[in-house]
Amino acid sequence: MVDVLLGLQWGDEGKGKVVDFLAPRYDIIARFQGGPNAGHTLYLHDHKVVLHTIPSGVFHQGIMNVIGNGVVIDPVSFEVECKEIEALGVDLVSNMLISERAHLIIPTHKALDKASELAKGQNKIGSTLKGIGPTYMDKIGRNGLRVGDIIRSDFKEKYEQLKAKHLSLLGDVVPLEEIQAWETQFFNSLQNLKKYTFIAAEYWLNDQLLQGKKILAEGAQGTMLDIDFGTYPYVTSSNTVTAGLCTGLGIAPKWIQKVYGISKAYCTRVGSGPFPTELLNAEGDKLRTLGNEFGSTTGRPRRCGWIDVVALRYACMINGVTDLIITKADVLDDMPEVSVGVSYTVNGVTSQEFPFDVQEKTVMVNYTTFPVWNKKLSDCHSVEDLPDAFHTLVKLVEENTGVPVSFVSNGVGRDQLIVFN
Ligand code: GDP
Repeated sequence: MVDVLLGLQWGDEGKGKVVDFLAPRYDIIARFQGGPNAGHTLYLHDHKVVLHTIPSGVFHQGIMNVIGNGVVIDPVSFEVECKEIEALGVDLVSNMLISERAHLIIPTHKALDKASELAKGQNKIGSTLKGIGPTYMDKIGRNGLRVGDIIRSDFKEKYEQLKAKHLSLLGDVVPLEEIQAWETQFFNSLQNLKKYTFIAAEYWLNDQLLQGKKILAEGAQGTMLDIDFGTYPYVTSSNTVTAGLCTGLGIAPKWIQKVYGISKAYCTRVGSGPFPTELLNAEGDKLRTLGNEFGSTTGRPRRCGWIDVVALRYACMINGVTDLIITKADVLDDMPEVSVGVSYTVNGVTSQEFPFDVQEKTVMVNYTTFPVWNKKLSDCHSVEDLPDAFHTLVKLVEENTGVPVSFVSNGVGRDQLIVFN
């Protein structure tokens, strides 16, 4: 069977810590979408590691890690990441497999990303400029290069064709010397990529399922950034939702069992785009400081606001969430009160539906507000220890989403996770 773990908000929900906790229950951890824009924070003997493309099971003995066909790989940043992990004593070559169908980010993809954001000016979507969007465009446009191509004799030829196409689109927006410097790094880094085993991951994974092996599919980014169901166009270029694991790994829906959906006890967003419960005041600044809300990959300050159960309810529906996980609950300890966005009023009509054109609308969020608990959540070790006001928050989330909360993370520590039910 396969379980999936994904973010229900705009990413950065603390997926890294939860995957690390759940990993020992599985034989295989597989990434099914996204690219080096992901940043999952893990701790190995108190050493902080941020994983981007590599699945989060690499620090566990006996777990095989798979990079699925739905992922896009930048060989340059991948080499940096591999070296960092290998330096910690991990034998990556023997515990990671890569789908030969995963697409490659080439230097001119990064140049196109840069040109596209420059052209958008004020309306930029807040891309991380890592070439991810243009790579997915080439995948859908049927021009892309895949991992399996790099060991074929015609790889250079295919590469040059794609590069020529990109250069004709780019004009002189990005200096050629800049692209050439990236190109040298790119070809050098292919030697590292070739050290790993490329496989027909769809066959391998299905074979493992038939043998009774347990797979955890590890999502990146978050549901509200999904290309179809997120706050388009301020979204990522892949399907971050449960359905993405079927297309991003080649696993049929019948194998899916648990869907772990992760949400912070409040809400954050990086870059531009709609965020109905955003706090553009001192309370928002306080949440940012208390939660250390600065991007793990980019260092950018994250926009902060209250938990939005309208968006959560929508995310639970799209993903078929079976188990909710609330993270960073302890961050609210030092706020004077807690608010939960329970419905939206748009043009005088109140509902719990998330509008498709939310950025075009004036959304008034209706909140339920209550005084914060007067106990440190990080000192709690069981459900019984948790203060009543926190249970009020949990109940509001459960009642509005229809999904039970299974775990609450109440600190950065590995053991700071309270099991419900
Ligand atoms: P991801 O991309 O979803 O894995 O999220 P990030 O790794 O970018 O951000 C999670 C950050 O929050 C990391 O620095 C974690 O150590 C931290 N974190 C995770 N869970 C908790 C928690 O319950 N409380 C606090 N205070 N920090 C947490």
